[in-house]
Amino acid sequence: MTWIDDPEFTGDHPFGPQTLPYGVIDEGIAVRVGGQALPLRPIASSFGDRLAELVSADSLDPLLAADRPLWSELRARLLELVTATKAPQGAALARLSSARLPFTVGDYVDFYSSRHHAENVGKIFRPDGAALLPNYTHLPVGYHGRAGTVVVSGTDVVRPKGQRKGEHGPVFGPSVRLDIEAEVGFVCGGPVTSEVSTSAAADHVFGVVLVNDWSARDIQAWEYQPLGPFLAKSFATSVGAWITPLEALSRARVAPPTPANPLLPYLVEDADWGLDLALRVSWNDTIVSNPPFATMLWTFAQQLAHMTVNGATVRPGDLFASGTVSGPDKYQRGSFLELSWGGKEPVELKDGSSRTFLEDGDTVVITATAPGEDGTVVGLSEVAGTVRPAA
Ligand code: CA
Repeated sequence: MTWIDDPEFTGDHPFGPQTLPYGVIDEGIAVRVGGQALPLRPIASSFGDRLAELVSADSLDPLLAADRPLWSELRARLLELVTATKAPQGAALARLSSARLPFTVGDYVDFYSSRHHAENVGKIFRPDGAALLPNYTHLPVGYHGRAGTVVVSGTDVVRPKGQRKGEHGPVFGPSVRLDIEAEVGFVCGGPVTSEVSTSAAADHVFGVVLVNDWSARDIQAWEYQPLGPFLAKSFATSVGAWITPLEALSRARVAPPTPANPLLPYLVEDADWGLDLALRVSWNDTIVSNPPFATMLWTFAQQLAHMTVNGATVRPGDLFASGTVSGPDKYQRGSFLELSWGGKEPVELKDGSSRTFLEDGDTVVITATAPGEDGTVVGLSEVAGTVRPAA
């Protein structure tokens, strides 16, 4: 028994000592311990001077700007502290409820790394064309998104307004095809660097969060050619409040599927960067999908190598989202566009209602788990959001 009095702080629960994700609450930087939070500022003297300064900050920004050796040292020290039988002096548990966006989002990049998702969307949006474009298996397709509208889990999402295609020209109004995209995000850290090789990726990934990339499909279908997503995605992107450190996922590392064609040398990996994360998408309390992240074609290391190969830098606080996670089966699809096949196959919810796209008042919660050390389960903190009517 450790000194932490919380029934969920065990290896059988997703937020036991094997996980220890970081967040920020009213009391400052904290780690999640079961169903509660342990603020670090009051116990900062338990760490060395450098770490004490980092954990006493108001956000995770200074910690993200540190480096992997310090991240590892902090995690090792925390594990000692939370598994001890006696509480460190000054320690007091706090509620999770005041969790906020724990870092300043730098550049936000959204990829498109699920081959199944790309094929499904290709078939729905371009029924007469090839499902996959010729570049897809040669590079991780992505776009630069809008960092300023990344919001923390629990923030309401206002239905966006915009243009969509009408019978006699464009129509303006609230989106009628509001959707989700269940994704996994990597929070970047370490020194500002360009041309990051795949073998150096671990120096630049602090941890992992779940992402919901809310998407207005009607706005998207009208605006996306020839330059890609713009207003259909930039109104809100939700992220989990607690960042799971990369080290907590060491047992979840798997080899990703490889494309049939050879990769250019800068995209070849010398370690397994796929992650065996099992996602769950809940729509008004009905689990509608279980997307498997291990099926993603492109990994974080490849995304990072690709994004920086032209001289662009990665900076602490940058957020890389994976793209919608969809597996090969229907109930593994990570968007409602795919689950309802473009709105043609309604999804039944357990209250007896059915849906194609989101209605006002609907709540979506995405969670995920991964295998941890010694048979434990590592959790990724939920990303939740409720749709509010257009303003
Ligand atoms: Ca997306």
